[in-house]
Amino acid sequence: MDSFGRRNLSPHPLRLGIFAALAASWCCCAAAPAADGGSSFDEFQKRIVSFKLENDVRVILCPRGDAPVISCITYVKTGSVDEVAGITGIAHQLEHLAFKGTPRIGTTNYEAERKVLAEIDALYDKILDRQRKLLSSSREGLLTLLAKLSSGVAAIDPEGLKAPLAALRARFSKDGDRLSDAEFSELESLVTQWALKVREAEAFVAQNQYAHEIGRAGGTGLNAFTSEDRTVYLVSLPSSQLELWASLESDRFMNIVPRQLEKEKQVVLEERRMRTETNAFGKLYESFLGAAFKAHPYGVEVIGHRSDILNYTRANVESFYRAHYVPQNTIVAVVGDVDVAKARDLLTSYFGKIPAAPASPEPHTAEPKQEGERRSEVEYPAQPIVMVGFHIPERKHPDTPALKVLTEVAASGRASRFYTALVKSGTALSAGASMGPGERYPRLWIANAEPSADVSVEQLEDALLAEIEKLKGAPPSPEELARVQARYRMDVLRELKSNMRLAIELADYEALADDWRELFRELDAVAKVTPEQVTAMAAKYFTKNNRTVSWLISTQPAEAPAILGVPSAPPKP
Ligand SMILES: [Zn+2]
Repeated sequence: MDSFGRRNLSPHPLRLGIFAALAASWCCCAAAPAADGGSSFDEFQKRIVSFKLENDVRVILCPRGDAPVISCITYVKTGSVDEVAGITGIAHQLEHLAFKGTPRIGTTNYEAERKVLAEIDALYDKILDRQRKLLSSSREGLLTLLAKLSSGVAAIDPEGLKAPLAALRARFSKDGDRLSDAEFSELESLVTQWALKVREAEAFVAQNQYAHEIGRAGGTGLNAFTSEDRTVYLVSLPSSQLELWASLESDRFMNIVPRQLEKEKQVVLEERRMRTETNAFGKLYESFLGAAFKAHPYGVEVIGHRSDILNYTRANVESFYRAHYVPQNTIVAVVGDVDVAKARDLLTSYFGKIPAAPASPEPHTAEPKQEGERRSEVEYPAQPIVMVGFHIPERKHPDTPALKVLTEVAASGRASRFYTALVKSGTALSAGASMGPGERYPRLWIANAEPSADVSVEQLEDALLAEIEKLKGAPPSPEELARVQARYRMDVLRELKSNMRLAIELADYEALADDWRELFRELDAVAKVTPEQVTAMAAKYFTKNNRTVSWLISTQPAEAPAILGVPSAPPKP
């Protein structure tokens, strides 16, 4: 499943669209009803019903359309920002495991499986204990072997383990680890026992039963994504299947069994490899975030550190689940052919069973004020990239509407400042701007660009910074603002036409702005932004002391420069 929602490098795709839409004028929105057959947004809002269950789960229902289908989401206000050192990426790992089922789904014999899972946990704890004596290079080698073994778990046998274990021992010696024969034999025995238990547990797994149940009911688009601030589970179903969905979904939000952790670690490691370790944009973004944030958890990518992924235990996963998948963080949204009265009863009955729980802990670490430019470089055989970021406040801050307009003026479309000055001029292949990585806490205003073949990264940085500087003194003209507004309007209409996207946006505003109605209020606020406010934002935040600059430096001549896309946001997990 997606760790970055999208992309979600930062803003996920949806959010990018809505952000763009925010610049739309309120009067334009009155015509927007296109979102639903011609009514105004005011009328449209009246159809939306929201309520809170006794346990604090929030429900949003939006009936519309004639097709007998519904888009259902379960939204949890938790993501990588809620992680602490040592378990980075666990929100995303948990999202994968949420599809593995519960005591009643995903198993052929839960009682027997539970005992084997407990034995696996005990053995893994022992292995983690022994590995602490190893050099760090050996530790990674050992845990990587375990992750690899579990991906081919059905083929595990004691004879087959001998070769990889012998190779591991040889590597230990080569790296300078001084493990005695007795110590290595004990480790070898633990790994063998652990691997055989993982194979035993696998035999109890009813593979993909959750997905099969949804598929049998006619469900489509079953998926999920995790970002810095949120984890969202989504599916579309025939409207007659709301109860089946509510039954399955409420079960996994109360009783998750994180089975097949070992196997899913390997899936996540592969995602990390593809999207961060061997992806130019992903690599640079990881370095950029690490440079820009010295204290706040936004400095770590959603996917998490490789070593943390290797070390997760089922206890880590369950602990995060119990702390953060609580009713106060949970929003259920259904959009489409939904009978409000029936859905209210049904969702109250199923999601109301989730026990009330204390609010989850919020990260209290604040990013200290930056006191000087920060820079980072990554060398990689790919097209060079320049990324520039400035710290800005969280989305609830009153500067947000003007910052959104500023972003659009800078980089939205082929008439934008960046495209005109950098791409059309031949300096850059692409140039973009966005805000991120998250929204709940202070974040960054980010600009990125790729140089043309005969332009150095130094030259591109100078040109990009010059354009950013110009934003302070050149307010958008009435024509420029109007153009951006028209573009936003089109974007918002497009977004809200999709039942699934509307469900996600409503839940997002309910979670991150405390009220789904902010989706519409924000449109109004953005429409009132003046040209002077736009330049004031640039002057306030675009200072050298508040700036982070990262370069991806090509370690080989680019043969055929690949254009990443214009404008682009940083890639997301
Ligand atoms: Zn994933």
